[in-house]
Amino acid sequence: MAKKIRLSFDDGPKPVPALTKILKILDDNHVVADFYVNGVEMEDAAGKAGAQAIHAGHHKVENHAFHHIKLSPLPIETLREEVKKNQKIIKDTVGVLPTRLRPPYGDGMWTNPKDPELLQVAREENLTITLWQVDTEDWKVPMADKWDWVMGEVKKRATKDLNDVLMHVLETTARDLPELITRLKGEGYEFG
Ligand SMILES: [Zn+2]
Repeated sequence: MAKKIRLSFDDGPKPVPALTKILKILDDNHVVADFYVNGVEMEDAAGKAGAQAIHAGHHKVENHAFHHIKLSPLPIETLREEVKKNQKIIKDTVGVLPTRLRPPYGDGMWTNPKDPELLQVAREENLTITLWQVDTEDWKVPMADKWDWVMGEVKKRATKDLNDVLMHVLETTARDLPELITRLKGEGYEFG
């Protein structure tokens, strides 16, 4: 069975110019992806249009909290507001409620036990908390400057199931995305 990859892009929908390029590349390659968005970037017309373009491209618009902040230090009322307010603006903008929550930085999911208030709010909102298998750290160093490392991470972290490869809505990532897709296909990965 072919190994499966799922591409995910965090921190959108802005900047919209980078998003637009990413959506075009995905479309050209017949790849669907997940976009974990922050509602604070969807309050104006440009951000709303960005979210709608993601949805129109048959990609998923998922919840990355309303603001890009750590959720676990928040009192539960504020944490709930961060999640619910983002559910609402996404539903109001694209017409579909997210089913997945990726807390910014994965915060609250690295401790043992995981943050109980985060788990509770996710349960209340029928959200599955979804992290990633492969972190490209594209925000730190563009992928084109470290292909060996990126592909090494893919091979090292890959599981038998779906492998979520985390990127961000960035100009450099838009530039490097065609080569990433080519390299993943070259390694025999399929996109699921
Ligand atoms: Zn993020």
